[in-house]
Amino acid sequence: MFDSETTVQRDLRGGCPPWLSGFKRPVRAPLDHDLSCDILVVGAGITGALMAQHLTALGRQVCVIDRERAGFGSTAASTAMLQWEIDCPLSELTGFYGFERAANVYRRSLQAVAGLRGLVDDLALLCTFRHRSSLYIAAGDFGARQLLAEHQLRERAGLPGVCLDYLTLRREFDFDREAVIVSPGSADADPLLLAHALLAQAIQHGASMFDAQAVTYDNFGHGLIVGLENGRQIEAKTVILATGYVMPEFLNSDLHSTASSWAIATPPQTPDALWRDGVLIWEASDDYLYARTTADNRIVIGGEDDDAVTDPDDRDALMPAKAEILKKKLSLLRPNAVAKAELIWSGAFGETDDGLPLIGRAPGIPNLYAAYGYGGNGITFSFLASRVIAKVIAGQHEDWYDDLSLDRPKPKS
Ligand SMILES: Cc1cc2nc3c(=O)[nH]c(=O)nc-3n(C[C@H](O)[C@H](O)[C@H](O)COP(=O)(O)OP(=O)(O)OC[C@H]3O[C@@H](n4cnc5c(N)ncnc54)[C@H](O)[C@@H]3O)c2cc1C
Repeated sequence: MFDSETTVQRDLRGGCPPWLSGFKRPVRAPLDHDLSCDILVVGAGITGALMAQHLTALGRQVCVIDRERAGFGSTAASTAMLQWEIDCPLSELTGFYGFERAANVYRRSLQAVAGLRGLVDDLALLCTFRHRSSLYIAAGDFGARQLLAEHQLRERAGLPGVCLDYLTLRREFDFDREAVIVSPGSADADPLLLAHALLAQAIQHGASMFDAQAVTYDNFGHGLIVGLENGRQIEAKTVILATGYVMPEFLNSDLHSTASSWAIATPPQTPDALWRDGVLIWEASDDYLYARTTADNRIVIGGEDDDAVTDPDDRDALMPAKAEILKKKLSLLRPNAVAKAELIWSGAFGETDDGLPLIGRAPGIPNLYAAYGYGGNGITFSFLASRVIAKVIAGQHEDWYDDLSLDRPKPKS
């Protein structure tokens, strides 16, 4: 028996992100009987939602459970910059795994955002999804020279983008920074609307959804029995763990760690305070800053990530101080913007040493699959997870899945 009571049950999020205002709280249906199903998805955030939508579209019988309201975990905290660029620069990933393998993962990530975009278009999902380019800004130790080298490596990998020097950046985007890489192919969205639109699709295709907390996992014949907190149980041929940053201890990978991140949203800005094309902005430094605009013209700016802060109370207590820092950084980035924090929030953040997610079979536990460790590319990797896990369940394997496996060794630096 694998007991998830030893799981660290953290509060995933504090404060109030913009996606929650005006959002009707979803109804929660408690599970008051035992159940059996083909596939059980544990967790109804963006990962569980993408998983449930995809598997039901493939004709599988799916049940989704969540101990909280669907999407109200880390998904509601996300700034939902849907980027294909990975937290770990291609140059660093090449250092870990060699160029071919690193370039391949980057290309898969680019395809994942394109796949997500196609899905939103095909299903006409209402989630304020907008096509966006991104600006990767030289910062800290990653200056103009490193940025140019990164760009050249990306070009060699066939990835799109151009490098802009100071003067061109000034002229084109009116930012006072040393250099940037501008890349097409990313997007932004409202993450909560996206998760709910996907869950609605899954339910339309026969998925059932319940308010229940998984506590234990037992092998049973050709499947698993999942014990619930209320004493009920679910028998499933296949179980997929999509519990976000609540990673059960029995799965723990030494690649994975949890940090905290903070974000603010300004009041709606006048058009002159916003930047060209609402490009997604992120800095190349370790304590990086990220920023986007919203459909109602707010600026959302986040970062200040801290891996020494993992306790939710400590994280939330830091919100006022982190908001002050983020406001100052916004003033430097965009001097004519109103640098006021109308909304402040914080969230847990699971990351890995190599910036790649942990996706695939749970090592040593038949019929159990999992997706964790997303870092800043959460939603892109959630999409990737839904496609990879569906294929693995169907008995298909591609070599590159091993690059994401839960038991891959720690990279050599
Ligand atoms: C401040 C911040 C900014 C971010 N910005 C971005 C960004 O710009 N772009 C991006 O792509 N990503 C971003 N992320 C990351 C992104 O939010 C996450 O990767 C993503 O939301 C993870 O989704 P998930 O569905 O896996 O997890 P969650 O949304 O947390 O969902 C997991 C669900 O599992 C449920 N659960 C847990 N344990 C159990 C159990 N035992 N039984 C039943 N249910 C259980 C929880 O209640 C929860 O609802 C950001 C994160 C933070 C905190």
